[in-house]
Amino acid sequence: MQNPIFSAHGVTKVYHAGEIEVFALRGVDLELYEGEIAVLLGPSGSGKSTLLNIMGGLDCATAGEVHFRDQDLTTFSERQFTRFRRDHVGFVFQFYNLIPSLTAWENVALVTEISSNPMKPEEALEMVGLKDRLTHFPAQLSGGEQQRVAIARAIAKRPEVMLCDEPTGALDSKTGILVLRLLVDLKNQLGKTILIITHNVAIADVADRVIHLRSGEIVSVNTNEHPTPPEDITW
Ligand code: ADP
Repeated sequence: MQNPIFSAHGVTKVYHAGEIEVFALRGVDLELYEGEIAVLLGPSGSGKSTLLNIMGGLDCATAGEVHFRDQDLTTFSERQFTRFRRDHVGFVFQFYNLIPSLTAWENVALVTEISSNPMKPEEALEMVGLKDRLTHFPAQLSGGEQQRVAIARAIAKRPEVMLCDEPTGALDSKTGILVLRLLVDLKNQLGKTILIITHNVAIADVADRVIHLRSGEIVSVNTNEHPTPPEDITW
């Protein structure tokens, strides 16, 4: 029996754009299990980022419940959300979100300084293969290297969960495969639970489970008994 680390029930999100109501999520039920890689697949606008943001405590559901272990996120105060994000979740975004005026080491240190049990920034950067780039600024790094700094920043605080929104979306396929390899290694070596958003069907092959979202609803969840190594996928 697998242990759910996250469970969402009836999660609905309605955005108000002037007079118009946009139903980004329509009653989503989803569990995320410890130590799995789940890929959330769906066309643009299907609600993927909204769901990831709600699970990560960056946004609130309009209705429904989201549990992280035995805690109900929907009852959290701002202060509890801040602590939850700081202690439990590592985020990786498509465009890296590094601070341009800080070096790779400083970008990671920014997070480790406020974490309770962090790695040293150089340790996290070594894990992503960047121990020779500590003093480089983002502009002096390739896209793939910048994304690896972002992953180092996410893992440095030792989160149980990594929430990755289109982590390879801005990368060429060769570099994207390196980044996927890193995420698979984090699962295999450190037992992280990883949720990856993509609209790229090929990436789904590396997942243990593939969740299809369309128009704010989960249309299918497929278990992949034999995930493909990132090196063997083509896109
Ligand atoms: P995806 O990540 O699958 O591309 P999103 O979760 O970003 O989809 O968006 C789902 C829907 O919600 C889209 O129709 C989008 O336009 C709408 N939406 C997302 N964020 C907002 C917002 N802050 N205000 C209004 N509508 C939003």
